[in-house]
Amino acid sequence: MDIWELFKKWVVKNKPNTWKNVKVEDLFGSSSDESKTIKTTVNSDLNLNSYWEKKEDWFLISIVNDMFLNAIKLRASDVHIEPGDNWITIRFRIDWNFVNYKTLELKHKDSIIARIKIMSYLRIDEHRLPQDWKIAYKLFGWKQLDMRVSVIPTIYWEKCVIRILKKDDKPPELKDLGIMPYNMVKLKKHLADNYGMILAVWPTGSGKSTTLFSLLSQFDPKLENISTLEDPVEYRIPWVNHTQINPAIDFTFARWLRSLLRQDPDIIMVWEIRDEETAKLAVEASITWHIVFSTIHTNSATHTIQRLVNLWVDPLLITSSLRMIISQRLARKLCPHCKVQYKASDKIKDYIVWKVWKYIKNKEELLLFKSSENWCPKCNNTWYNWRVWLYEVLELTDKLETLILSNASRLQLEIQAIWDWMVPIKDDWLLKVILWETSLEELLSVLWT
Ligand SMILES: [Zn+2]
Repeated sequence: MDIWELFKKWVVKNKPNTWKNVKVEDLFGSSSDESKTIKTTVNSDLNLNSYWEKKEDWFLISIVNDMFLNAIKLRASDVHIEPGDNWITIRFRIDWNFVNYKTLELKHKDSIIARIKIMSYLRIDEHRLPQDWKIAYKLFGWKQLDMRVSVIPTIYWEKCVIRILKKDDKPPELKDLGIMPYNMVKLKKHLADNYGMILAVWPTGSGKSTTLFSLLSQFDPKLENISTLEDPVEYRIPWVNHTQINPAIDFTFARWLRSLLRQDPDIIMVWEIRDEETAKLAVEASITWHIVFSTIHTNSATHTIQRLVNLWVDPLLITSSLRMIISQRLARKLCPHCKVQYKASDKIKDYIVWKVWKYIKNKEELLLFKSSENWCPKCNNTWYNWRVWLYEVLELTDKLETLILSNASRLQLEIQAIWDWMVPIKDDWLLKVILWETSLEELLSVLWT
């Protein structure tokens, strides 16, 4: 009998306490056939080998497995294992915020990091240099997960961060992203263009890949050739040619783009424009009858235009290629089970009505919600549940084009864009506060920091 069969019997007989909510089928899959596939495809989780008889290793393995289970259950994007003076803290990043998961005694520091390193094929005898690796797990017979493990030495011990990407997730539908009608009209209009460049901007972790993939899934890959170069590949859309960048062998965005253009694609997604060559190639591709999606690290839609100019892209080419810039940010959504209504002060009401006067005229209609800070098991007392996407969509109008060609300042571009019906991201947020999706407090903590 092989070790998996033995282990299965052991679990059925004496399931560890820490797994009380886990079904045996969750660990092995529902049929015996499936358990065989898991056995062959699983990388190293629950791979007990020489460990499985030792009690302390059992303790450790269940801690690590529990940690992954809970991280997935709580939809955490990252797990941080941080040793300190006396304790090791394990925290999850959920919807961009940290939630403390567990504190362990410092004596486990060696073994917990070693366990993660073994699972990720990192060197366990290296404690002085940073190490990182990407790995795919089929955890508990569940979905396949891509994880990026990074270990960095600190003065206490090694700190480990695991980024969790669900590999087989589908991007959400465009209609589920909470895009307000004034922005949706522009998105739909430019998705019907024959060529041009659509950029998504804002810092890492703001979910821009979600928006880009939702936009991309509006096209039919059976009718059009869609190719993407990503770092890392986050979503997999059937019929789309996903490619992973690999700078180690000099497989860069620019190199990929040069080769891809010979393959006659219709729709191209370049994960990120960060250098002059990629910027120029992407612009060139978009004016030669391709639709190009990409991202740039900038602070706002109008900043992006300046960034392109700084990357030495000719303003004339910017105006002829760029169709739209989508700037976005993520905020936490108030937990529907514990949010409470409150009376905002007149000052706040006046401010809101002044900012979004186009949509709300009567301040007496204004009802706001905030987090209750009451005990709530539905959101693990975080008072927020899931996320809200906030957008600012700049459409390249004739007047903006003239301004770009005359090297106008960012402020001039911003004023003109608002004049041409761009709703600034702060106003989009205020409208979502009015619609009870999120709170004013959240707005202040994210947008004014
Ligand atoms: Zn709640």
